[in-house]
Amino acid sequence: MVPPAPSPAAAPLLRYPHRHLLGIEGLSPAEITWLLDLAESHVDQNRRPDKKLATLRGRTVMNLFFESSTRTRTSFELAGKLLGADVINMQVEGSSIKKGETLIDTAMTLNAMRPDMLVVRHDSSGAIALLAQKVDCSVLNAGDGSHEHPTQALLDALTIRRRKGRLAGLTVAICGDILHSRVARSNIQLLNTMGAMVRVVAPPTLLPREVERLGVEVHHDMHAGLEGCDIVMMLRLQAERMQGAFVPSLREYFRFWGLDAEKLAAAKPDALVLHPGPMNRGVEIDTDVADDIDRSAITEQVEMGVAVRMACLEALTQPYP
Ligand code: ASP
Repeated sequence: MVPPAPSPAAAPLLRYPHRHLLGIEGLSPAEITWLLDLAESHVDQNRRPDKKLATLRGRTVMNLFFESSTRTRTSFELAGKLLGADVINMQVEGSSIKKGETLIDTAMTLNAMRPDMLVVRHDSSGAIALLAQKVDCSVLNAGDGSHEHPTQALLDALTIRRRKGRLAGLTVAICGDILHSRVARSNIQLLNTMGAMVRVVAPPTLLPREVERLGVEVHHDMHAGLEGCDIVMMLRLQAERMQGAFVPSLREYFRFWGLDAEKLAAAKPDALVLHPGPMNRGVEIDTDVADDIDRSAITEQVEMGVAVRMACLEALTQPYP
């Protein structure tokens, strides 16, 4: 008997088939797996003393961050340099943006210098997708408003996959300010696509309307939300995106929604704690949990961020169909 031909979904992907990385939405399981596998190949390499590669020699990466960033900007810079690219960090503070130049004019100006890639962070949801239509280089979304932060979701997935051996079938509780969080949106997309079960755990004021439509289970209580879960992902209150007060007081927020050892006890005994950073200790997470090396993978997330961003930069410099 002739064996059935493999379905297209099962065929291994030879390359990343898109010009840009604007979000997790629209990526297939095979594309996500391809990016994670490529990132995985960089983890050990990055732990060696002699870690620099020449894969992107002669390529130029421009970082254009309109919002503050510690981990993402630094790790994109490091990722580009480890691959041998020339990396330029645009200082928004000292640029013509402060003189009233629009985002698109700035991007077109940089595009005229012929970079291979623009890595952009902006406070408006959708601004980076708009910019990508105007330039002829590849564009990587490093966070747009409360919309998407694709490399964060990929680095979270890599951290989880390395610790748990898989993504499919895991129960992941995403807790805190879901309403304003691009990290939550990208993670929900990725985890659903990869077959994990996602719960969101938050007070009603910090959840988007019709959140169930995102394919998640909704909880308004930490104990019930964390019960039996494999992964607990904590989010910061995104005060910069809030108009007015969304919580009565930080002290009360911590009492009901902050992750401490007592609340974590509802999750599986080997449940892993993640946080994208920056952390507000004593608000959404207790110091003892954040620093517990048996439970918290927060520093490992930062390490995986470099490997994931290397994979994304490489993916976008390959010729696309
Ligand atoms: N660093 C993440 C972001 O840029 C999370 C946060 O800021 O709370 O979205």
